[in-house]
Amino acid sequence: MRDDIWLKSRLDQIWEFLFPEVPKQNNVHIRFKGRWKNKFGHISKKGKDSEIVINGLFKHLEVPEYMVDLTIAHELVHYMHGFNSPLPQLYRHPHKGGIVTKELRKRGFSHLMVKEKYFLKDKWKSLYESLINA
Ligand SMILES: [Zn+2]
Repeated sequence: MRDDIWLKSRLDQIWEFLFPEVPKQNNVHIRFKGRWKNKFGHISKKGKDSEIVINGLFKHLEVPEYMVDLTIAHELVHYMHGFNSPLPQLYRHPHKGGIVTKELRKRGFSHLMVKEKYFLKDKWKSLYESLINA
């Protein structure tokens, strides 16, 4: 199973290589939590720090790594847009007009978003059932 140390190294790599110009202005923690079917992650403020949470079911190696990467990238987009981060808030709503998807496309995630779509359509429901009943 993946653990929080592995998860932190994914965050560091994605940030360094794919969001290099986004300043890191506070401590950003990341951890696995929850067993959700329809929610993959979120970012929140913890005092001055930010915390990214990734669906705890994504610890399982049966969940493709790109699901973890995409979720991290999604939350990083919120961070760069100033939601639950110290950066200036650029929009009124975090998902206004598909801004997250647009930003992910710009940063080269289109191919993974297609894979995600098929994973969610064809695989996730039964995998979710088997993971929560394991
Ligand atoms: Zn979001």
